[in-house]
Amino acid sequence: MQTTGKAQVACLGMSTLISYTAYGGRAEKALAAARQETRRLEGLLSRFLPGSDVAKLNRAAGQGSVRLSREAFEALEIGQECARSTDGCFDMTVGPLVRLWNEGGAPSRQAIDAARELTGFSALRLQRRGRAAGLDRAGQSVDLGGVGKGYAADRIVELFQKHGVTSAFTDFGGNVAALGAKPDGSPWRIGVRHPLREGSLAGVLSVVNRSVVTSGDDQRAVTGPDGARRSHIIDPRTGMPVSSGVLSVTVVAGSSAIADALATALFVSGMREGMRYLARYPGTQAVFIDRDLSVFITGGLAQCFQAAEGFQTTVIQEENV
Ligand code: AMP
Ligand code: MG
Repeated sequence: MQTTGKAQVACLGMSTLISYTAYGGRAEKALAAARQETRRLEGLLSRFLPGSDVAKLNRAAGQGSVRLSREAFEALEIGQECARSTDGCFDMTVGPLVRLWNEGGAPSRQAIDAARELTGFSALRLQRRGRAAGLDRAGQSVDLGGVGKGYAADRIVELFQKHGVTSAFTDFGGNVAALGAKPDGSPWRIGVRHPLREGSLAGVLSVVNRSVVTSGDDQRAVTGPDGARRSHIIDPRTGMPVSSGVLSVTVVAGSSAIADALATALFVSGMREGMRYLARYPGTQAVFIDRDLSVFITGGLAQCFQAAEGFQTTVIQEENV
């Protein structure tokens, strides 16, 4: 029988605001362990920390492979699987393009082509035996920004379970993973942000034991010196910031890493192709919000999505995609 004690902590990590909430007698201890574990995972996965596995892999580009921690290897494996399943819309080797677009200013066509030439997920080779990874050519680099927070959220949910917690959730800057239901047995209610109006919601999802991850333009859009807003997500097929016609994509899945990677991929692909990719991951569902703020949900969410006032919701049927 679970006691109803609630423990909650918010902190900065993985380049975002993180909050953990857990219920029950063991919640406090679990939260302290979660904070520590998140720091450890960031130390393995961040490309910005020179000692991380990802930084080591990037430094060794073109020079062979490096041995990785179990966690970094697993995150890369999930990412590569998603890259294959989404025809490269999700692609962790976008590192050179991400760097180029983050320099500020509008890069030249030549610079974009040169960076794009260095990308492509088949250049990232993973060897299960020896748990090693390598990038084919010098100048190539991987960026786990599209899957790392989801991967970490899965590990934290696992850690909660090990601590005997049965009701908890983590929020890594909008990347939410829920363990179990609320202590009273009712589902967690997770907001889907209004893609254009900060602080407002487009709707609410009711979920149990699921992760909910959104990719979109809103929070991390970059404004160039020309004043134009650009997505921080790159379309690997063109080398350009995404303009797929959707403002945000929210994916609901059992695994937060998969929800994270798929949300990024579906933001790149848009709804039509996105539905095909989603079908490759049984049990995953999505909410698309397009430029006119129309909301489209997959069939599995019909009972769990409640639109905010003023939002029209359409359940996507195979034939009208
Ligand atoms: P997310 O917010 O999960 O959609 O991830 C976006 C982050 O992933 C960006 O800030 C980049 O670091 C990286 N990224 C950008 N474009 C892609 C892409 N097409 N595939 C994978 N990762 C990407
Ligand atoms: Mg993502």
